[in-house]
Amino acid sequence: MSLLPFDQKEGYLWLNGEIVVWKDAAIHPLTHGLHYASSVFEGVRIYNGQPFLLTEHIERLHQSAKILGFELSYSTDDMIAATHDLLAKDPIDVGYIRHFAWRGSERLRIYAPDTSTRLGIAAWAFPTTLFNIETKQPLKLTSQISWRKPDPTTAPTVSKAACLYPICFMSKHEAVEQGFDDALMLDYRGLIAESTASNVFLIVDGAVHTPIPDCFLNGITRQTIIKLAKQLEIPVFERHIQPEELTQAQEVFLTGTTCEIESISQIDEQPFESFGPVTMRLIEAYRDFVTAQTAANG
Ligand code: PMP
Repeated sequence: MSLLPFDQKEGYLWLNGEIVVWKDAAIHPLTHGLHYASSVFEGVRIYNGQPFLLTEHIERLHQSAKILGFELSYSTDDMIAATHDLLAKDPIDVGYIRHFAWRGSERLRIYAPDTSTRLGIAAWAFPTTLFNIETKQPLKLTSQISWRKPDPTTAPTVSKAACLYPICFMSKHEAVEQGFDDALMLDYRGLIAESTASNVFLIVDGAVHTPIPDCFLNGITRQTIIKLAKQLEIPVFERHIQPEELTQAQEVFLTGTTCEIESISQIDEQPFESFGPVTMRLIEAYRDFVTAQTAANG
């Protein structure tokens, strides 16, 4: 498999207040963010040329940094303006934006409260399948992986912090090596948590059940889906869910900015109805919400 030379792409990115040529963007290798993972990030979708739920994502970036003990040097309004400046230079109709912040290179030691906070914004074209769901294949998950979501006293679990992601990519790699698309991750207590980069929902007798995000990211897509389900008068239960309860579910789906809504056809040996009736109602509601939000902001 040849690696995509992503760092050699054409275009621009926003780095510490300046728009720079994508392939010329550079940071020093002796950076606190690289060595000690003092780094947080966001992923935002672009639909209809407009960033979707941009304010919510930037506010979460501020919150993620605060949990790691550093402050971003740009306000939410400044970062919204910077994002729009970048998109004005490099317009994208359907795509993805990555905001990222890290502690700089002034000091390479654990104790470095006075390091500068660095900030970057990159955007690129990235397809959506939300509007042509019929082209999507349902996914198969395995729960048979080596890793679990950690105790919140062991890791900053509610921050979108880079230090949490080795668990995600190692689990994803294990799942794919086993012939599955992704992993269903349990938490430190053995409860259902989420997938490697998306939240999980079970449909049991017409109601939506989803784990409480007390040791993993409370996804912005997750929060949107819960709101939409309530508007549709679908009962929603946020609760601790044991893996054995999967046998009671008829449908399962994942939510996340990147994956949008993924229907699950199998977890380990157990089959589920792909793109079942409740999943489809929520996909349609989400699609309408995306259209309304991005048209209203356009
Ligand atoms: N969990 C993890 C570990 C993630 O990386 C993501 C993607 N950011 C999510 C859940 C879903 O979050 P969101 O809906 O905000 O993209």
